[in-house]
Amino acid sequence: MSLSSSFWRALQKRSTEINMICVPIIGKTAADALHDMEKADAAADIIELRLDSMKNPDSRKLAWLLERKKKMAIVTARKFSEGGFRKLSFQERLEIYRGAILHHADFVDIELSSPGLLETLRPSLEQSQTKLIVSFHDFSGTGREKLFSAYAAMKRQFMAGKKKAYALKIISYARSIGDISVILELLERAKKEHVRIIAFCMGPFGEASRALCCSFGSWLTYGALSIEKSTAPGQIEAKLLRDVYCVNQHRHTTPKIYGLVGNPVKQSKGYLLHNGLFRKHHLNAIYVNFLVDNLFEFMGKLGNKISGLSVTIPYKEEIISYLDGIDSHAKSIGAVNTVVRKDGKLRGYNTDWSGAIRALEESISVRGKRALIIGAGGAARAVCYGIIRHGGHAYITNRTFSKARQLAADIGGIPLPLMQISAGKPYDIIINCTSLGMFPKIKQSPLSLNSLRKLSNSGTVAFDTVYNPEYTTFLNHARSLGLTAVSGVSMFRFQAYEQFFLWTRKNQGK
Ligand code: NAP
Repeated sequence: MSLSSSFWRALQKRSTEINMICVPIIGKTAADALHDMEKADAAADIIELRLDSMKNPDSRKLAWLLERKKKMAIVTARKFSEGGFRKLSFQERLEIYRGAILHHADFVDIELSSPGLLETLRPSLEQSQTKLIVSFHDFSGTGREKLFSAYAAMKRQFMAGKKKAYALKIISYARSIGDISVILELLERAKKEHVRIIAFCMGPFGEASRALCCSFGSWLTYGALSIEKSTAPGQIEAKLLRDVYCVNQHRHTTPKIYGLVGNPVKQSKGYLLHNGLFRKHHLNAIYVNFLVDNLFEFMGKLGNKISGLSVTIPYKEEIISYLDGIDSHAKSIGAVNTVVRKDGKLRGYNTDWSGAIRALEESISVRGKRALIIGAGGAARAVCYGIIRHGGHAYITNRTFSKARQLAADIGGIPLPLMQISAGKPYDIIINCTSLGMFPKIKQSPLSLNSLRKLSNSGTVAFDTVYNPEYTTFLNHARSLGLTAVSGVSMFRFQAYEQFFLWTRKNQGK
């Protein structure tokens, strides 16, 4: 199955020009690997054949796979201590790499910690078309000094003279969000020194760096064929890297960086919406989820690279101390969910309140209506502010009643102990601002079907701020009573549209 040489020349040229997505292939047999290679074709610019994942790998199986590849291929056979999947002897690895060179693999990836292999293979590599990637992995953490000295040593040893390595690869494990800044600094240094490099952080705190690294000059990033087939912690699916983060799109300049700060952030789907809007408006920008364990460290080390942020639990209040100013709505609510950089200054906003009102007012005008708010946390504060601002009457109840009282004192409204919520007339609007019903505890509800029946009439609108699932048990109770149900998805969409407007001045319709 040979491809024309002009096609290969075009691919080789592309490899030097464009940030690429590399999909590791980890089949246990050659047939499995071929199956995955074919599946990877849609998202991959280049594949990595991980021979250390294969049972009894040999150069015959490798040749069979290389003959069938449609994308450029990196051949890797790591030893166990370098993160390899199986124990391979020096001789077995040497034979695999010799096979890779003999059968014209595009690249071989050899770890710096295997100097014997590097030395033995160097003469044959010098006479072949196969290019060398020299790797350094630190699975224990991201020490700035350690990584920069590894870089300097690798550069001296492999990037000087005529027979250079094609690229250096330096990967570390992020123990904290600030570790990403070390990798970005390394990428900037390599770029300045014209050294082709692959660099990012592994692990949950490093996940954002996998989507960002190409924008900072990493020659490629690795994406999993599927979550089950990921080869390292924090690896993102290749199709997301391609379709959502657009990492392999050619960008003339470094994109603006936006993101979500919170802990946890895995559940948030804002990256789908915001990256989609950037694409729609042809904006050179990327939005990533930053899992933040320490806001001080994040703002100190990465804050200056950020054009805008979404902020979620638990940082909506803490973020305020890092900002140059906040708008009057955020001030009244006491929480910021949106940060905008303008003229070098960071300003905070709250779009939760307006998102909630826009969602509600698709079904009911708030003015003059009686609204029961269940909960007294961040979402409740924003919703209560919106209800009052739009002329509604807010009744606030909460498991911890003192918090309901405090909310009413800060923002307005009438605090009601849970036992007293059914004392008056039915409510026009009933809003769940607790986290009850949120995935994975989807059976929970702030009100039983019976209580909801008692508190409502046929015109009542039930609104849930929870957006995962789209229709919660609370909303399903409402629908079974024939009430109008407004999902948190709608609030989420509107608050995100407003964030997007604040960042870009681009308006969205519904
Ligand atoms: P929060 O500040 O932590 O407040 C949580 C609220 O839920 C508190 O009132 C708490 O009561 C109550 N609660 C928690 N567990 C409870 C239980 N087992 N029984 C009774 N009450 C309980 O959280 P938040 O920021 O307000 O978020 C609340 C929900 O709103 C979350 O599901 C979040 O995803 C959602 N939200 C959605 C959007 C959107 O765009 N759709 C935006 C923001 C938030 P206590 O005071 O007694 O602890």
